[in-house]
Amino acid sequence: MGLEDVSDRISQAAQKAGRDPGSVKLIAVSKVQPGARVDAVLAAGHRCFGENRVQEAAGKWPAFRETYADIDLHLIGPLQTNKARQAFELFQSIHTLDRPKLAKTFARLAQETGSCPELFVQVNTGEEPQKAGVLPEAADAFIEECRVLDLPVGGVMCIPPIDEEASLHFALLAKIAERNGLSGLSMGMSGDFEKAISFGATHVRVGSAIFGERVPG
Ligand SMILES: *Cc1c(COP(=O)(O)O)cnc(C)c1O
Repeated sequence: MGLEDVSDRISQAAQKAGRDPGSVKLIAVSKVQPGARVDAVLAAGHRCFGENRVQEAAGKWPAFRETYADIDLHLIGPLQTNKARQAFELFQSIHTLDRPKLAKTFARLAQETGSCPELFVQVNTGEEPQKAGVLPEAADAFIEECRVLDLPVGGVMCIPPIDEEASLHFALLAKIAERNGLSGLSMGMSGDFEKAISFGATHVRVGSAIFGERVPG
């Protein structure tokens, strides 16, 4: 299994960057993976997972939670406003807060339920039209807007364009976090999590390097 290998590489990357390995949280991205692979990672003691679709998560995690009570589930994919309530019930963290309408819905749900998942504002650092996230120049104002709504924004998140050097995007995201006084940096995937750690990542989202290639369908 790739879990041990990825955990070791995280520790080494953190040490190399002069950071405490405990300051990097490994989100095991289990989307589309067969249940048996997820089970194996749970049995190995890992509890932090990421899913990119509410529907899929709702179909598989309640059963795992009957066996493992302390699962820490992160939503890392786009969220439709009409699924926000369900997302609140399923996830401990949501990494894809990217628009005022969603922020307002979260604020209303937080007031109604008395709690709110930890939130990350997604930033479209590559300014890609097809990608979710606020534009870098709009990030400060949006983060402020979320604060006015009393939302627990703990950090920012990005998915760099696949054909660009990720370092530039990690550096930009780190700068946005710093100037907004945010400590959480959700960045880095199977191909570049060590690099992300060198730029300060606190949450790395790693799928295929842990579970193997995703099996479609
Ligand atoms: C699928 C996914 C990942 C994990 O990708 P791998 O390359 O398999 O590590 C990370 N972040 C997001 C937002 C994803 O959708």
